[in-house]
Amino acid sequence: MTRILVLGGGFAGLEAMRVLERRLRRRRDVELLLVSDRNYLLFTPLLPQVASSLVEPRHIIQPIRDLRGARRFRFRRDRVLAVDLGRRRVELAEGVLGYDHVVIAVGSTTATFGIPGVDEHALPYKRLDDAIILRDHLIDLAEHADHEPDPAQRRLLLTIAVVGGGYTGVELIAELQDFFHSYVVPRYRGIGPGDYRLLLLEAGEEILRGVHPTLAARARRRLAREGIEVLTRTRVTRVLPGALELASGERLPVGLSVWAVGVQGHPLPLEPPVPRDRLGRILVDRFLRIPGADGAWGAGDAVSVEGRPEASVPVIPAALAHGRLAAENLLAALEGRAPAPIEFAPRGMLVSLGEKDAVVEVMGLRFSGYPAWLFWNALHLLKLVGLRKQLQVALDWSLARVFPRDSAIMREPTRCPRCAGHAVGGVGRAA
Ligand SMILES: Cc1cc2nc3c(=O)[nH]c(=O)nc-3n(C[C@H](O)[C@H](O)[C@H](O)COP(=O)(O)OP(=O)(O)OC[C@H]3O[C@@H](n4cnc5c(N)ncnc54)[C@H](O)[C@@H]3O)c2cc1C
Repeated sequence: MTRILVLGGGFAGLEAMRVLERRLRRRRDVELLLVSDRNYLLFTPLLPQVASSLVEPRHIIQPIRDLRGARRFRFRRDRVLAVDLGRRRVELAEGVLGYDHVVIAVGSTTATFGIPGVDEHALPYKRLDDAIILRDHLIDLAEHADHEPDPAQRRLLLTIAVVGGGYTGVELIAELQDFFHSYVVPRYRGIGPGDYRLLLLEAGEEILRGVHPTLAARARRRLAREGIEVLTRTRVTRVLPGALELASGERLPVGLSVWAVGVQGHPLPLEPPVPRDRLGRILVDRFLRIPGADGAWGAGDAVSVEGRPEASVPVIPAALAHGRLAAENLLAALEGRAPAPIEFAPRGMLVSLGEKDAVVEVMGLRFSGYPAWLFWNALHLLKLVGLRKQLQVALDWSLARVFPRDSAIMREPTRCPRCAGHAVGGVGRAA
């Protein structure tokens, strides 16, 4: 029996498994096994809308067990601790698995660049739980600010800094503006339009690096019009409780810091160690093979394709292209055929700027405003996996036109100094 392992149930891993499952379904001598620490696929483009309470968290995830064809491969929810490429063994939290071929697609982690205080004092923004926790903290801050008599303290509580001016940071800050403007201000009597402050901090010259300069400038104008302060050439050197320390030496007081600075390679230990790029991503050749490791392929955010920066961008289309090609080349190896090189290059960029605005560049065509926003919505709805999820998100969007967002705090806000010492729901609870 030949065992093929796919590590990571994200876009790259699931795409690889989809191709393998389809092409090997008649092979009784091949075992397909997907290992991932989460049993769902997360549709990351809608994370900002979870943070702003526009979309329900469950509606942007698809359980792996419900995916079409899922019964034809085995799924194991487990954490991969290490891969021994020489002995072809994977160490899991709950056991060890041997393999004949492996596709490593475990994604990336948030880049902190060794900046002190990020892990302790800034909220991360990458996984589903991050967006839920961020949402709960925002609502918690609004609850406190509603009863804060000192206007300066109130504004400080509601000063939200998003660090990172890439598309994830821009989309998040735009969503937060919608959230405060259309939900918090009309519903919290103690909070007025001038009581909150949204900051976007970017170390580089401009926001939205990689997006066409006219669209990036257009996005910046829109954010400024909405009252969002965009601080470029502003490097954060330390995150403190209630403040950001900048390279200029200035201390910026904030109520909440969110870290959206980009990604770095997954720290999964590989034995023997393999070359990695400066972001710590596994270097693969243009056939997505891990050099020096027979039977091992890499795909998605976890890897960087040697000499092909355009094929190494951490976006969903690249992850899907990697997953597909890694599977095709693995099949070619099984069948004794020559592998094919990666041909991927990004074909565009879509950035939502909140309610009824976006900037879009697709296949050389650039547009912005309402048509771009409609395009953004339609495309993302289409790309959501499964009709049920598409309907649920479409319904969330429609209901938000008629009903208010949901401001129930679901989890204890762990980073709130005011909540420390008293637990939500703790009063009167039976011992
Ligand atoms: C907030 C945010 C917004 C984004 N918006 C967009 C967008 O609008 N458009 C776009 O194209 N891209 C977007 N991206 C980027 C996109 O999500 C990634 O490029 C894509 O998810 C990469 O796919 P992947 O399969 O390589 O990794 P992932 O999708 O991250 O999947 C990796 C999988 O491996 C699992 N895993 C990790 N470690 C282990 C382990 N040790 N053991 C077992 N399993 C493990 C993870 O749980 C996960 O299921 C966004 C990313 C973020 C964070």
